Amino acid sequence: MNYQNTESFAREMDEKDSLKGYRDKFYFPMMHGKKTIYFTGNSLGLQPVTTQDYVLNELEDWATFGVEGHFHARNNWLSYHEQFAEPVAKLVGALPSEIVVMNQLTVNLHLLMVSFYRPTDKRFKIICEAKAFPSDQYAMQSQVKFHGYNPEDAIIEVAAREGEHCIRHEDIIAAIDKNKDSVALVLFGGVNYYTGQVFNMKAITEAGHTVGAIVGFDLAHAAGNLKMELHNWDVDFACWCSYKYLNSGPGGVSGVYINERHVTDKNIPRFAGWWGHDKGTRFKMDKDFVPIPSAEAWQMSNAPVLSMAAHKASVDIFDEVGMDALVAKTELLTGYLEFIIDDINKSLEQKLEIITPRDKSQRGCQLSIVAHGRGKDLFNKLTEAGVISDWREPNVIRCAPVPLYNSFEDVYRFGEILKNSL
Ligand SMILES: *Cc1c(COP(=O)(O)O)cnc(C)c1O
Repeated sequence: MNYQNTESFAREMDEKDSLKGYRDKFYFPMMHGKKTIYFTGNSLGLQPVTTQDYVLNELEDWATFGVEGHFHARNNWLSYHEQFAEPVAKLVGALPSEIVVMNQLTVNLHLLMVSFYRPTDKRFKIICEAKAFPSDQYAMQSQVKFHGYNPEDAIIEVAAREGEHCIRHEDIIAAIDKNKDSVALVLFGGVNYYTGQVFNMKAITEAGHTVGAIVGFDLAHAAGNLKMELHNWDVDFACWCSYKYLNSGPGGVSGVYINERHVTDKNIPRFAGWWGHDKGTRFKMDKDFVPIPSAEAWQMSNAPVLSMAAHKASVDIFDEVGMDALVAKTELLTGYLEFIIDDINKSLEQKLEIITPRDKSQRGCQLSIVAHGRGKDLFNKLTEAGVISDWREPNVIRCAPVPLYNSFEDVYRFGEILKNSL
């Protein structure tokens, strides 16, 4: 692509963009009467214009029917979660029976570790990325301690090499190999939240399986951002939140994938609740748990319909658009941001450094930019000029142009504001 750092080029790109109509299907925070340049869809996705209607429907049915809503609501509350199996399976490359939407991300990570981190004195280690999202670190540490092991011995972090920001794939594979007799679980992010690096999930899964480990992924920054093939890659389990790229609102419900072979394994330990019990006999309220032969067996509680209604509004949009179109636009749009940063650098003494991989197969839409020698006043200037991005101390700006609602003009305008703020 022959990019140009001009407004007319950006507008031309927007004109040609087959997804351009989706921008108007989201609410943007406004500043000085204009839409902000919203580059934080990786933190909290924007609200679809349709969400209010989806949620209002359920509020109305609740008001109208009270408990009878369980029988008369327009969208069945008892099985509300079931409508996610197909579209969410498509979103992450899974079978519908491998998907359940429930709880929130860290809760699900724990529930999945209950089933898939079962350490023995010989195999007790977890291999993960260094600087994983803090919640994931706390989850792993507490699981290790819960089983009576010491996180210092049991958690093996694969770090970037001295002077580098991203983790080399060969170092991940080497760590798995080095711990081949003692690793129980390989647990990585699909995308590192800080650097935006995408890990090679297929190859990591293969390497973990070769040494007899279980392999799972936290897809918080991958769901709705990357095209994935969880089933074909033979990933054991994964979970993600729905409020980042999936635009389902603050604290929204989380998605879970569990590989078919585990779903049908009758001996797998899991924490159970009534919503995982066989639907035909659930309301007999018998004491013996009969698991549903799908990922639903892990669901404990009845569906949180209000937050699921918000999720449904967004999932319907994703189902209409499809990951192929989103990923194709990401390549162009994030590529444009990269070009603009490189262009600005030409006139800078102290250059901005993109720490996200340049290789398109190793990134989604986020670019993490180190502003060497600059402090938070740079970020404050950006914010005052209408850019909503994310600042991490000491000097990293994370920008995620989201293909569903960001435009090439957003990226161009961001570049102009950045140039003026430096
Ligand atoms: C956003 C995020 C979380 C947040 O966890 P919640 O349980 O949804 O609060 C956890 N892990 C990762 C990797 C994240 O990116």
